[in-house]
Amino acid sequence: VSKAQKSGPVVFQPSFDVGSNVNLTLVSELKKSIHNNELSIFVQPKVDLKSRVVTSVEALIRWRHPTRGMIFPDQFIPFAEQTGLIRDITLWMIAEASKLSASWLEKGMSIPIAVNISARDLIDSDFPNKVAEILKSTGSNTSLISLEVTESSIMDDPHRAKQTLLQLSQMGIKLAIDDFGTGYSSLSYLKELPVSELKIDKSFVMHVEQNQNDRIIVNSTIELAHNMGLHVVAEGVENIEVWKSLQEMGCDYGQGYYMTKPIPACDFEAWYQQWTQV
Ligand code: C2E
Ligand code: CA
Ligand code: CA
Ligand code: CA
Repeated sequence: VSKAQKSGPVVFQPSFDVGSNVNLTLVSELKKSIHNNELSIFVQPKVDLKSRVVTSVEALIRWRHPTRGMIFPDQFIPFAEQTGLIRDITLWMIAEASKLSASWLEKGMSIPIAVNISARDLIDSDFPNKVAEILKSTGSNTSLISLEVTESSIMDDPHRAKQTLLQLSQMGIKLAIDDFGTGYSSLSYLKELPVSELKIDKSFVMHVEQNQNDRIIVNSTIELAHNMGLHVVAEGVENIEVWKSLQEMGCDYGQGYYMTKPIPACDFEAWYQQWTQV
């Protein structure tokens, strides 16, 4: 008996069961989601902690499902990775993000967009060419797009990941290491990668006030990154106290609910106007 059968008809489930290995309903619906225009981009700004200037935004995917409502990435990205659908999703995100950033530029907002890529993309030797094609067809400059790669996706196949990242970097695309501190990457290896940004995982940042261990981790990560010539983004900035602590520790940028939760791309301009007026 499958999990779906035990818990009743699949259509009445509030969300997909990420625990089961094969969820055929999800996979077939996800396959159609791009064509059906159900995927959409939410954005969340990265802000300079000293000047409050918005330096870039991160693109975060959402699936607006016709009957299940909004589905968050944690509920379908793992399946997309298992089945290989992630490749089309990543390319769709890059295309949408580059169009979006170009449209902002026309309105005088020069704000690059960071897209998350996965382990599957990193081992695809054709991935950099596909990215180049997309940017060419959307008429966008490589400086408008950057890519975020998690530590753990690099460590899946470090050698191939390095080749792919080198190619992307040679194309002029900036790269960030995401979720830093949660994986088991070797620092000596990270040193060889052409990355310019390190993002400290929100689990270390959120309670940096109260938790002495978190403080030590965040502080030494900032120092380490700066010594390696990287700039640092802290995720999970939920209040002004955390912002101030990070600023005192010399962290460059912050991202989090204190500035805004991720918002639909079409709402960004309004948020930006308001942020820059204060
Ligand atoms: P991530 O790349 O680490 O993205 C940051 C996550 O932290 C986002 O969750 C964001 O909404 C959340 N967040 C931001 N600020 C705060 C805060 O102050 N407090 C708290 N508690 N959370 C905050 P989201 O959008 O649900 O995305 C979850 C993960 O799904 C992402 O983690 C990323 O790994 C993955 N993901 C999202 N979009 C894509 C995509 O287009 N492609 C791929 N491959 N993965 C994606
Ligand atoms: Ca990210
Ligand atoms: Ca992250
Ligand atoms: Ca994450």
